[in-house]
Amino acid sequence: MSEHFDVLIVGAGLSGIGAAHHLIRRCPQKSYAILEGRDAIGGTWDLFRYPGIRSDSDMYTMGYSFRPWTDPKAIADGASILNYVRDTAREAGIDRHIRFNTRVTRANWSSDSATWTVEARREDETVRFTCNFLFMCSGYYRYSAGYLPDFPGAERFMGTIIHPQAWPADLDYAGKRIVVIGSGATAVTLVPELAKTAAHLTMLQRSPTYIVSRPGEDALANWLKRRLPAKLAYFITRWRLVLLGMWFYRLCKKKPEQVKALIAKGVRAELGDAFDVATHFSPRYNPWDQRLCLVPDSDLFKAIKSGRASVVTDTIELFTESGLRLRSGAELDADIIVSATGLVLEVLGGVQISVDGAPMDFSKTLNYRGAMYSSVPNLASAFGYTNASWTLKCDLTCEYVCRLLNRMERRGLRQVMPRNRDPDMGTQPWVDFSSGYFHRSIHLLPKQGSKRPWKLYQNYALDILNLRYGRLDDGVLEFSNPVSAPAERAA
Ligand SMILES: Cc1cc2nc3c(=O)[nH]c(=O)nc-3n(C[C@H](O)[C@H](O)[C@H](O)COP(=O)(O)OP(=O)(O)OC[C@H]3O[C@@H](n4cnc5c(N)ncnc54)[C@H](O)[C@@H]3O)c2cc1C
Repeated sequence: MSEHFDVLIVGAGLSGIGAAHHLIRRCPQKSYAILEGRDAIGGTWDLFRYPGIRSDSDMYTMGYSFRPWTDPKAIADGASILNYVRDTAREAGIDRHIRFNTRVTRANWSSDSATWTVEARREDETVRFTCNFLFMCSGYYRYSAGYLPDFPGAERFMGTIIHPQAWPADLDYAGKRIVVIGSGATAVTLVPELAKTAAHLTMLQRSPTYIVSRPGEDALANWLKRRLPAKLAYFITRWRLVLLGMWFYRLCKKKPEQVKALIAKGVRAELGDAFDVATHFSPRYNPWDQRLCLVPDSDLFKAIKSGRASVVTDTIELFTESGLRLRSGAELDADIIVSATGLVLEVLGGVQISVDGAPMDFSKTLNYRGAMYSSVPNLASAFGYTNASWTLKCDLTCEYVCRLLNRMERRGLRQVMPRNRDPDMGTQPWVDFSSGYFHRSIHLLPKQGSKRPWKLYQNYALDILNLRYGRLDDGVLEFSNPVSAPAERAA
């Protein structure tokens, strides 16, 4: 026997809890459950436990549209974010709808019954559910392990090698010599925190990242909070920061040289003219070609300036018994090496999805409005922005899914699917980003189209128009009842 729900949400992270909240509010008549592979709410913010874990975007845009972020910190620590997600789930009663330890492995759409049959592993057994709509809020990376390059000689190293995705709770790093490999958000978070008690901390990067310091607390936001009702203060701050972010992103794309110079000037002001900014903080790419790293209250720069941390820009030749040998010939001694080398992307939670028994290859699908996939019925996924906070887009996707469900309910329709009929539609990579983890997996990811509604603009204002107000009957979405024959489908 399988349980049936109108909507099944996969994942109880920031997106899955947000999706349930939108559903309760906008489609109160729909039954739903959340299937979560782990034993906890929070996804990323529960999984990652490395010292200093925090957001690198402000919480006024990373918080939900419906729940003000009231903590004074704008760049918040992982525990506060986790509490925010958990409180949202508890207060709305969403936590009672979550099936924990239920890892979805397969989902098959049946056109005859207009239902998904979803299979999941729970301990040693396979459990089955059916639903009318499948909402994938499963994040974008593999949970079982992060990306660890094949480091030559790693087995010889006598110390400890750690990936931040699996930080040992009992690791004692006080007084130890630590090398953090990487220069992304995780590395720049770890460095100032570990440097507080380590004997010395070296951030070893193959190439630099753009790093910008910003106050950990937003003074204007906190001033507004003291004077206005929480929702109004949140609304104003959120829009101020959204517009500021959009303006800065545009500036980076239009005048990259000007922004490069501005960022370099900021770093020089932090570290002094004697510091080699050109080598260690001047990336080869343009600002926002990869994710820009925010550090709160100059914490990274303060750690470097104090001498507790240093930056080395070089390539690893091999691991030795006592540390690392670099291509320049330099040696770095270490007791602990932290490989902050990133994530392994995973499409739709690693679930094998099929339509009428035919397995779907998502790399051959086109992403529709950043929410659905060509020729895949009754399925949406929450995937956030790469150039702004994740939740801004996920909130809009949830609104869109609710609009769709309500429209179908009103018209008595049971199936909806975007189909590309434009022979001139070009395809492009899903994500216009040169970061290593996207490049490693780009061949597995869905594509975006060259035109609306298949093109992703990574632009919140445009997405509000498209997803909140755009026409549902756009000639691309096919509503059907009864079902169309499987043979008609084409990507
Ligand atoms: C270290 C780190 C810092 C970040 N900082 C920021 C930031 O500052 N700002 C920002 O905008 N973004 C940030 N991100 C991106 C971040 O992942 C998102 O902001 C957000 O937390 C993603 O939420 P999510 O619910 O979509 O996915 P996740 O948090 O990944 O949650 C997905 C959930 O789905 C579950 N799941 C996955 N597959 C299955 C399956 N097959 N069956 C059942 N359950 C499944 C997982 O167990 C998990 O609980 C960061 C990411 C990382 C890794």
